[in-house]
Amino acid sequence: MSNPDFVIRGAKWQGEAMDLLVADGKIMEMRPTGGSIAEGVEKIPANGALLLPALTDAHVHLREPGFEWKEDIASGLLAAAHGGFANIMCMANTDPVNDEVSVTEMMLDKARLAWPDGPRLFPVAGLTKGLKGQQLTNLAEMHRAGCKAASNDGLPVHNTELFRNAVEYAANWGMVVIDHCEDPDMAPGAGVNEGELSSRLGLKGAPTAGEAIQVARDILLAQYLDTPIHVAHVSCRQAVEMLADAKRRGVPITAETCPHYLLLTEDAVEGYDTAAKVNPPLRTMDDVLAIRQALNEGVIDILVTDHAPHADHEKEVPFAEAPCGISGLDTALPLTMRMVDEGILDMETAIRAWCLRPAEIFGLPSCGFAAGDSADFVLYDPSASWEVRPELMRSKGKNTPFMGQTMPGRVNALFVGGRRIV
Ligand SMILES: [Zn+2]
Repeated sequence: MSNPDFVIRGAKWQGEAMDLLVADGKIMEMRPTGGSIAEGVEKIPANGALLLPALTDAHVHLREPGFEWKEDIASGLLAAAHGGFANIMCMANTDPVNDEVSVTEMMLDKARLAWPDGPRLFPVAGLTKGLKGQQLTNLAEMHRAGCKAASNDGLPVHNTELFRNAVEYAANWGMVVIDHCEDPDMAPGAGVNEGELSSRLGLKGAPTAGEAIQVARDILLAQYLDTPIHVAHVSCRQAVEMLADAKRRGVPITAETCPHYLLLTEDAVEGYDTAAKVNPPLRTMDDVLAIRQALNEGVIDILVTDHAPHADHEKEVPFAEAPCGISGLDTALPLTMRMVDEGILDMETAIRAWCLRPAEIFGLPSCGFAAGDSADFVLYDPSASWEVRPELMRSKGKNTPFMGQTMPGRVNALFVGGRRIV
């Protein structure tokens, strides 16, 4: 057997100290630490770090083209790399919208220029021209240009016949449609849950029924067409109960949620805190518990950040006028490790949800430790806790309700395709 190019020595994986041998950008072998390693092979000591497969984020907003003051492709990929992500799927709601090959290619060129060795960028094709919900984009061409999925994220397609055509058309090219589930007429983008809190604050809220109605549509269509649909950022119990039932019946539906729906309730918007204004809105503790259970049971397949950076001045306005979104790439992995520490998630679920399932659902490079897998992995230092402060966030977006909180550890190193990029 030939020699590895380098060895990560003594990193913790599933509670054991392991050596990870890497050759030609791929995993060669993982074995208990301490075995002999040929003379001259580079040995990289893990110094107590945890070894994790690199993460994939199937739902981010990188804002370029058109909104570069919030984020650009270079700054988004920088935050992703330092957050432990090897693969990123960016949504199409840019200006111009990513509904043409020229826009996709421009995004990919910018990514290659800024970060030639990764993280890998996979733009999501706009499902309809201009995200207007009237005319389908040329998904065949966009698939050839590198789009693995298509979505009208933020502006769900109202016309069910058009949406059905889109799902069937996308499937012809092996692309999955990601649906942002929100009844377009029921307080779209309200950013606060409808209930006692919203009426006390005098804000128009978005009811959970508005989310569940769209999830029901997607389940019915996925079943009828026997074609996959992926449900974006699930936030409420009603939606997960329907997803659980659909999955039991074998309907080809998949779903995602974000760390904030596992950790925060609507109470985070008390005092009109726009940092906690997201779409769908933060819900009640009952919803949070349902989301946690659904993730652990695999009813919700994957975790995503829905990274939505905004400039400070855009959030420093009255609640009703502020844009929705949390800047999530910097804090996603530490928040996940916090949830593992607190017993909210088990480690196996976290790895399935961030590393393994996204690759399966969207046909991306798989991050794992089997021989021959791409050498995409993270060394995470659980002893290096840090406080979330604007200057420590790599994203241009400093908008997070976790500002000032202590994160349990950080990414020490990220390898993509066997190259250390952090
Ligand atoms: Zn969305």
